Amino acid sequence: MEPTPFLVEVSDAEMRQERQKARELRASQWWKRKLAGGVCHHCAGKFAPAQLTMDHLVPVVRGGKSTKGNVVPCCKACNSERKHKLPFEE
Ligand SMILES: [Zn+2]
Repeated sequence: MEPTPFLVEVSDAEMRQERQKARELRASQWWKRKLAGGVCHHCAGKFAPAQLTMDHLVPVVRGGKSTKGNVVPCCKACNSERKHKLPFEE
């Protein structure tokens, strides 16, 4: 895979902080309700909650935040396809 250019500089400390916030969001009732809906944000397929992962619309390494507006349920196939992509690159 071609290396993709970084748009922003994100420090290790900031990445750790956002990943910690993502863990907290994953434990929230809000996220559990999202998973219970069972719909992948990207392909709109129906999945069991255990098959869905948390996807950052703007990845943490690109300066994305672990907020409700930036995380969506995503199936494993879409997640691996989307790695290192931003929405406008699709
Ligand atoms: Zn999907």
